[in-house]
Amino acid sequence: MQVAPSVYFYPFTSMMENNCNTIIIDGPEKVIIDPGHKHLWPDLKKAIEADSLRVEDISLALHTHCHPDHIEAGEILELEYGATQAMSTIEAEFLDGPGREFFPWMGLDYPKGSISRTLNEGPLGLGDKTVNLYLAPGHTPGSLCLHWPEAKVLITGDVLFAHSVGRTDFPGGSHQDLAASIEKLAQLPDVEMILPGHGPAVIGAAKVSANYQAVKAYF
Ligand SMILES: [Zn+2]
Repeated sequence: MQVAPSVYFYPFTSMMENNCNTIIIDGPEKVIIDPGHKHLWPDLKKAIEADSLRVEDISLALHTHCHPDHIEAGEILELEYGATQAMSTIEAEFLDGPGREFFPWMGLDYPKGSISRTLNEGPLGLGDKTVNLYLAPGHTPGSLCLHWPEAKVLITGDVLFAHSVGRTDFPGGSHQDLAASIEKLAQLPDVEMILPGHGPAVIGAAKVSANYQAVKAYF
């Protein structure tokens, strides 16, 4: 569903299994953020196409972090549709090391395809748009959040949710780093919508600021 001009949000709502929310930023360079689990891709593809978006046009699959419930379908985007897979440089190194273990733990094969583009903090040009990337460690060592000031949208992966924050008890997690990351995100101007990696969106400037107040209780 479209939540802002050029921004589409696909919340995962089933109580029966876990998957992440997916976001698409539409434009001359279409980016899918966190494509989720592979076996759920056909459902997601249907939802995307129902919004009159062509999955064949997606050129970049950007992963907020390397957990299997966010990246597993990246191989489909790459191998079937020719998209490039990207994550932060720090996260790609983590995935190549301890992060590999998440797949066997979840009974999954390590994905085919490759993270052929690594990203650092700073502006990222997407065709006619520029989004700002922020490193936000804590849930994982190299989690990325995306801020698109024009749309006043902040995409937070598993760093920050509606009234909750990301787990820090997985390998590579750090409660202290998560607190600092959320403090950093809270300073960003021009955020009227938080699109998190799980659960509902936070919509409206007042709700965004109330959400930062609410999650302070976790630290
Ligand atoms: Zn995660």
